[in-house]
Formats: sequence, structure tokens, C-alpha cells
Amino acid sequence: MSEPGSARRTAAGSLKTYANDTVTLAIREDWCKAEGCEICVEVCAPKSLAIDDRGKAVIVDIDSCSKCLRCEVMCPDFAITLQ
Ligand code: SF4
Ligand code: SF4
Repeated sequence: MSEPGSARRTAAGSLKTYANDTVTLAIREDWCKAEGCEICVEVCAPKSLAIDDRGKAVIVDIDSCSKCLRCEVMCPDFAITLQ
């Protein structure tokens, strides 16, 4: 799957990693509680995150991520990690 800009996406099991030259953000999809929780989407001001058709959090635009860490801090299931 192609990603916009310089974004790279890799997957290992349920761990999805999104990266560009300045940010690497990993989502542990089996820890994401799926439908019913959109906390990370709601706290992401640049709208870098969305919920996909499986009900899982995904990055839709890594280049807009400001590394504010709100999603990592606010996720109740520790599913998001920034580097
Ligand atoms: S806040 Fe965590 S559990 Fe909730 S949708 Fe986002 S990644 Fe999933
Ligand atoms: S670190 Fe901030 S800007 Fe980046 S995806 Fe998380 S909430 Fe959005």
C-alpha cells in the first residue's frame, strides 16, 4: 500500500509502524479496543489518526503528526508508542 509523502509503513503481527524522517509511531492493533473508542482521534489536533473499517486506530497522515504525544498519553490501552 502506498502512503503519502515520505511516509513508510511496516507491519509485524499486530504492530503497525508508521514513520517519516522525524517521527515513528507504532500502533499495537490487538491492544486497541476498537469500536467504541476514538480517544486518540479526538485528541489529535492535526487529524493524523482515524478509525478504519475494522474499528482500529490507524495513521492516515504521518507527515501531519506534530509529535505532541497526546495519543500515546491518552490511550487507555497503551496501544500507541512514539519514538
Ligand atoms: S485511544 Fe487507544 S484504544 Fe482507543 S482507539 Fe486509539 S489506539 Fe485504540
Ligand atoms: S503525536 Fe499528536 S499529532 Fe501525532 S498522531 Fe499522536 S496526537 Fe496526533
